[in-house]
Amino acid sequence: MKFFRTGLAALAALATISVGPAVAQDKGTIGIAMPTKSSARWISDGNSMVEQFKEAGYTTDLQYAEDDIPNQLAQIENMITKGADVLVIAAIDGTTLSNALENAAAAGIKVVAYDRLIRDSGNVDYYATFDNFKVGVQQATSLANGLKERFGDGPYNVELFGGSPDDNNAYFFYNGAMSVLQPLIDDGTIVIQSGQMGMDTVGTLRWDGAVAQARMDNLLSAHYTDKVLHGALSPYDGLSIGILSSLKGVGYGSGDLAMPIVSGQDAEVQSVKSILADEQYSTVFKDTRELARVTVGMVNALVEGGEPEINDTSTYDNGVKVVPSYLLEPVSVDKSNWEEVLIGSGYYTKDQVQ
Ligand code: BGC
Repeated sequence: MKFFRTGLAALAALATISVGPAVAQDKGTIGIAMPTKSSARWISDGNSMVEQFKEAGYTTDLQYAEDDIPNQLAQIENMITKGADVLVIAAIDGTTLSNALENAAAAGIKVVAYDRLIRDSGNVDYYATFDNFKVGVQQATSLANGLKERFGDGPYNVELFGGSPDDNNAYFFYNGAMSVLQPLIDDGTIVIQSGQMGMDTVGTLRWDGAVAQARMDNLLSAHYTDKVLHGALSPYDGLSIGILSSLKGVGYGSGDLAMPIVSGQDAEVQSVKSILADEQYSTVFKDTRELARVTVGMVNALVEGGEPEINDTSTYDNGVKVVPSYLLEPVSVDKSNWEEVLIGSGYYTKDQVQ
């Protein structure tokens, strides 16, 4: 492995030079490919990893691809060419990396899928993520609780939004949510006036808030001119913001038109502020510091020849293999517990969100 060779070369160099500067510990270079800086969570992920990899003695090459697939592919190819020892990848489109990962495997580079599963490739060694099905369960549970709290016993009119169809997580979030919502739809407690269901129909390409906003505009004008909307399942804070803008645009949240219950994910600052302002109802907090910690541990085990810690060997079949995974616990956050969870854990200071 390259880092051993580099290490030996460095030792050999030291042996021939009797007096020289101290050589910093260097366990190798980790290529970190992140999808975009347009959402704060990925910035936190990148920062936490750089910090923690550095503490563990690694050099990092962190790249963001601004949600452009060819850009991410070029970044990964470049990391391979420059001789990364391990790649940590949060894919934009989890199905587009097979060729790049063949090159990585040929060069002996291990690959950890970060947060999002990389599909259709045998060259994915480990997967660090959250319990994504549970994220969906938490979103829908909070939506159902919020509907009851704000609107009494129902029936409630609800519309569904899904994440990006090229992100494996989006299906887990949707399926988790539907495991809670489908029985309520079946017994008539929840009514989807548009009839729009299923990821093929409700997915939102690239998790784009503007796309969700436009779809909400259309749903409101097509189905809610003489009916009231009570809730929207949203899988991500960036979509929730778009959905809420659309709702506010037609008068929800003012006069006697109560704001519908809108879920979210990532506890992004703008959405926490929105929760405190009684607009967005809830979000799901996923501690990116913890995800970085798990990932650094996995990489370190790979480099040192140990066994990475995993807690799931059955859920994440990527089409070629079941990728051994470590799943962290997501936490549902609303007005009742934001302070304890987000401030108490030191993720944010009060000043940041108030
Ligand atoms: C992540 C979510 C995030 C979404 C949009 C998903 O893969 O798991 O945390 O909200 O991408 O960035």
